Amino acid sequence: MANLTITQARPDELKTKPDGTALGFGKLFSDHMFTMRYTQGFGWHDLEITKYHDFALAPSAMCLHYGQAIFEGLKAYRGVDNQIFLFRPKDNLRRMNVSASRMCMAEFDVDQVLAAMKALILVDQEWVPRSPGATLYIRPFMIASEAALGVRPSKEYIFCIILSPVGAYYPEGFNPVKIYVSDTYVRAVRGGVGSVKTAGNYAASIKAAMEAQALGYTQVLWLDAIERRYIEEVGTMNIFFKINGKLITPPLAGTILPGITRDSVIQLAKDWGMELQERPITIDEVVEANESGALEEVFGTGTAAVISPVGSLYYKGHTITLNQGRTGALSQKMFDVLQGIQYGQRPDSHGWIEPLTV
Ligand code: PMP
Repeated sequence: MANLTITQARPDELKTKPDGTALGFGKLFSDHMFTMRYTQGFGWHDLEITKYHDFALAPSAMCLHYGQAIFEGLKAYRGVDNQIFLFRPKDNLRRMNVSASRMCMAEFDVDQVLAAMKALILVDQEWVPRSPGATLYIRPFMIASEAALGVRPSKEYIFCIILSPVGAYYPEGFNPVKIYVSDTYVRAVRGGVGSVKTAGNYAASIKAAMEAQALGYTQVLWLDAIERRYIEEVGTMNIFFKINGKLITPPLAGTILPGITRDSVIQLAKDWGMELQERPITIDEVVEANESGALEEVFGTGTAAVISPVGSLYYKGHTITLNQGRTGALSQKMFDVLQGIQYGQRPDSHGWIEPLTV
């Protein structure tokens, strides 16, 4: 890429690579980062890969006051023949441009940023873990950096990509999660920003998550903000229900994130000839399906866990136990197939994976 400058850290500045078996999530960062800057009237400029470093931001930087901040999350996988693969990276960058547009932030050229992302991962390729299931988490984000007060779009932005090696999500195999259905808090409303990945959505979700965790639940399942009946999504995952052999997931109606794993699960279910419905589904329908024995499986989908089987749902004083708290066959198959594609071990008939080297 013509206008990308790469300044590598000196050998004595490189960090010690961690032991691949005890990585956890989001605690360690690689040696380098990508940044570019936007100035209104001039566009994106100063594309550079440098050593990982702190930002200098004015105390009046607009992101600190008015929340123009968006991000993405995807992974690099070290797969067959030691090759590094990305999974649907353009879909993440396209979704980020949708977030930018909704938040009145600067859009960018997807191909140019993908090329920069690949260049960054190549520079830090030794940070893509080798231990099974561990991956390199990629965090692109953008913040409003103009030094000014006043609620309006910033005229300056910083776009950045950082990399964090993360451990296997399921080191001891699948663990079905316990979910708390919130009837107190809501996440998003039509016309709001629930369908984009902006920082404030996550800030607003923390209180409900803390309260659920204090009661022993892993994640919160959100209901719609108006009738408090329709199921939306879970924490940082979309959700699927298998009822009477059919796979059902809430539609993309403006309040949930259009998950890339969600879209992949829909494609696979269709490939396998399953009946798939994207339609509103109420919590009462789920409770009734459970009582009649029609509810077979519930699972969440997202980049972090790929597939997260749900073992139980708590709603208004009642606990629904699913599949005796065990992982269902469809959840397991979806996980195995998606992970197989991500690591380059299974045929990629949809063109989802992008090898890093060309
Ligand atoms: N919903 C929310 C709110 C999320 O933050 C995420 C994670 N990006 C998802 C769903 C799942 O999206 P994806 O499959 O693209 O990771």
